[in-house]
Amino acid sequence: MYRRTETKPVWVGGVRIGGQDRVVIQSMTTTDTRDVRATLAQIRRLADAGCELVRLAVLDEAAAEALREIVRESPLPVVADIHFDYRLALKAIDAGVHKIRLNPGNIGGRERVRVVVAAARERRVPIRIGVNSGSVERELLEKYGSPTAEAMVESALRHVEILEEEGFTDIVISLKSSDVPTMVAAYRKMAELRPYPLHVGVTEAGTFFAGGIKSAVGIGAVLLEGLGDTIRVSLAAPPEEEIRVAKAILKSVGLPAGEPVVIACPACGRAQIDQISLANRVEEAVRHLKVPIKIAVMGCAVNGPGEAREADVGVAGGRGEGLIFRKGRVIRKVPEAQLFDALMEEVERLAAEWERE
Ligand code: SF4
Repeated sequence: MYRRTETKPVWVGGVRIGGQDRVVIQSMTTTDTRDVRATLAQIRRLADAGCELVRLAVLDEAAAEALREIVRESPLPVVADIHFDYRLALKAIDAGVHKIRLNPGNIGGRERVRVVVAAARERRVPIRIGVNSGSVERELLEKYGSPTAEAMVESALRHVEILEEEGFTDIVISLKSSDVPTMVAAYRKMAELRPYPLHVGVTEAGTFFAGGIKSAVGIGAVLLEGLGDTIRVSLAAPPEEEIRVAKAILKSVGLPAGEPVVIACPACGRAQIDQISLANRVEEAVRHLKVPIKIAVMGCAVNGPGEAREADVGVAGGRGEGLIFRKGRVIRKVPEAQLFDALMEEVERLAAEWERE
């Protein structure tokens, strides 16, 4: 197992980022923030999917004003995404947002930074500094030749130092590149320089399938180094899909995602049941559960029992039938047609016990 790097925690509403083994899942709404009803509806869908923090684009005063009602009604802490206009940052903080994303070097001078920092400090609102490969300053691009990891880190440090000089250290940093090796190197480098929590993501990753894989590789690589305190999967897809991918990434690297892990063998010539359909049905059926139980769906009696025994609940296929395992022991032998129901019965029973504990 790998160890997670200790970072200086910040609180975003009731959600802690950093200084713990848990990695927080977040996403961003795609609605017009001024449309309060649509935005709140999307936030609720995100919350149901398992999102823990939500970021909203704040493009103008009307959007900043809308935040007041959104924050009041939102089931999730709200992060305001601000570019360049410090007045929007002030309005967002006044509206009660729990965190802002803002690069202090881009808001037009130190006086403006001071005003924003004072408001953020008073309301205990952390600031995320977000550098993307596309937003690296021209002189750094000239210095490094392209938006390299070094260029991104230097860009982020400029913003970080501005806040530090103002005595403000409730900072989160992101260094997102659409190039996976670059973003991994950037996070690694930044972690050596500052103790602030890292918001990890691959920017402009792409569509659900390609972007999901790219995000998994990039975010997964950073997490496996013990880095990363919150993740956002950026997909050209509905944001709820981002949460599905984010949870799958956390589970893949052995971090808690608050839902079951389904292990399924790929099925081969030895499979004696329709293992693929069964695995897909099970995965769909357990999506609503909020407990981290491990379920194994295995196709045969050769390699199946070993894995099924290791899981909390498992099934190993036999000729037209299957063995149901619970906590390492065979508890039932049932015909193939009843495998799904028998397995789900055990899963639901275990989930209920888990929730009672
Ligand atoms: Fe094949 Fe059995 Fe392994 Fe599944 S568990 S891949 S059916 S050998």
